[in-house]
Amino acid sequence: MAPQASPATGKDDLIVVAGAGGFIAGSLVRYFRDKGFTRIRAIDQKPLPEWYQRTPGVECLCLDLSREENCKRACEDAVEVYNLAANMGGMGFIEKFRIECLRTILINTHMVEAAYRAGTQRYFYSSSACAYNTDLQKDPNVRALKESDAYPAMAERGYGWEKLLSEMFCQEYWAERGMRTAIARFHNVYGPYGTWDGGREKAPAAICRKVIDAKHTGSGCIEVWGDGSQTRSYMFIDDCTKGIDMITHCDDLIATPINLGSNELISVDDLVTIAEEIGGVKLRRDYNPDAPKGVAGRNSDNTMIQRILHWQPSTSFRDGLAKTYAWIEKQYLARKAGKRTIS
Ligand code: NAD
Repeated sequence: MAPQASPATGKDDLIVVAGAGGFIAGSLVRYFRDKGFTRIRAIDQKPLPEWYQRTPGVECLCLDLSREENCKRACEDAVEVYNLAANMGGMGFIEKFRIECLRTILINTHMVEAAYRAGTQRYFYSSSACAYNTDLQKDPNVRALKESDAYPAMAERGYGWEKLLSEMFCQEYWAERGMRTAIARFHNVYGPYGTWDGGREKAPAAICRKVIDAKHTGSGCIEVWGDGSQTRSYMFIDDCTKGIDMITHCDDLIATPINLGSNELISVDDLVTIAEEIGGVKLRRDYNPDAPKGVAGRNSDNTMIQRILHWQPSTSFRDGLAKTYAWIEKQYLARKAGKRTIS
């Protein structure tokens, strides 16, 4: 279907953000508020005191969005809907809790329908690089993944298949029903206000926490999952929120999955070295080959985003990690002092 002239979003139009008690959606709410949007509805199933960020002036609702009636309530009068709600975590979580990941299908299934029925103009869905064919990711010296590499499909079991199917829902709501949908495949996102402890955290936060802990306890060593050779690219949160906005409002990207990630490839050993340098320590590395490792290597091919948006995530990993490390260290010390922290 050819796009009609894309309606501009007014500053008083209602924006709905799902998963807003978590990391990325919480930051997206703040991003839109900072841009001057006056009506934002933020939703998460977590009780409000457990939300990672609360932005003043935003309507916050505690709803379980795997239930149809709650999605209807969430999408009432929405002009734009951003669905980032998911039951997810790092490799340790998604390899162990595949059923929980698969059941997240309920959220997007009900949200996209509720958004359509509410007459929403734009619907954003957060997919993942885990939707890509895992057969292409067996070598740490990866070739970067391009958008066409999702099919023939052999996604990450559980989590990746849920993403792939939810992407298809979004594509068909445009093809059959004409609702503008946008789909970004995020490659690991990190930054302040991200999960840093408790089992759902991802490698950058986990390594920062371990380095901080080794520094403050004087243990002198760090446990590293795998053999340190696994590679990934990591996108800083500010690039992610900006990218979501640009992708959602680009008429050339309607219902078209696109990579949203950094293309700076980092091995786990590099990550540890950079975190050690930031913390000013040098630690003995104890490699754990039995820990969850995920695919050997994964990077984002940014040819398409550069061609269409003339932009790509550009925060250097060292700069982004320094900000993340500083934030996690504050959290760590606050927890030690018995104060409330996130995650
Ligand atoms: P997060 O866990 O911090 O946030 C997700 C939020 O969704 C949580 O606050 C959770 O409580 C909420 N949620 C879960 N089930 C819900 C339900 N039934 N009803 C309402 N809320 C519910 O995760 P995040 O890192 O902010 O990820 C956001 C989105 O981006 C997810 O869709 C995730 O799959 C995707 N993604 C993230 C990354 C990353 O590196 N963080 C990478 C690829 C894709």
